[in-house]
Amino acid sequence: MQRSSSISSSSVDAPTPRCHCGVTSPIRTAWRSDYPGRRFYGCSGYGTSRKFSFFQWYDPEPPARYFDVIRRLLETNECIRSGNTELKKTRQELLNELRRLQQSVHETRAELEAAVAASTAMEDNMLASVATTRRRGVVIIVLISVIVLLVFFPNRSR
Ligand SMILES: [Zn+2]
Repeated sequence: MQRSSSISSSSVDAPTPRCHCGVTSPIRTAWRSDYPGRRFYGCSGYGTSRKFSFFQWYDPEPPARYFDVIRRLLETNECIRSGNTELKKTRQELLNELRRLQQSVHETRAELEAAVAASTAMEDNMLASVATTRRRGVVIIVLISVIVLLVFFPNRSR
């Protein structure tokens, strides 16, 4: 009788083995092995001391084909991982480029605003200068008219 979906460490066919430390060993899952996902009985302190070194496979040895499939899955996973790393790198480069562009836009806008302000000031000066020149022109024309009248018609009023 096979119980492939049992999760807990108790109530399986065989009694749960006890570790050298006296505690029953729970069923754990080995991910870093040739057969990732294969379950085993292992002390909760497994790997820390010789005292807690109890180890016994729970799942039967899988067929060779399983190893082949797992190896291919691991290779695919590695490809995806390196692709993901590449994507992260590209994303970071794009973000840096975006930051540079934003900085550039910011600087260009500041320059344009300064240029517009300078241009407006220059225009105001020119308008003021034109107004002054026009006033002077009117005064000069009036003076010339008075001089002409005095020179050509000096005795009219007498
Ligand atoms: Zn133990």
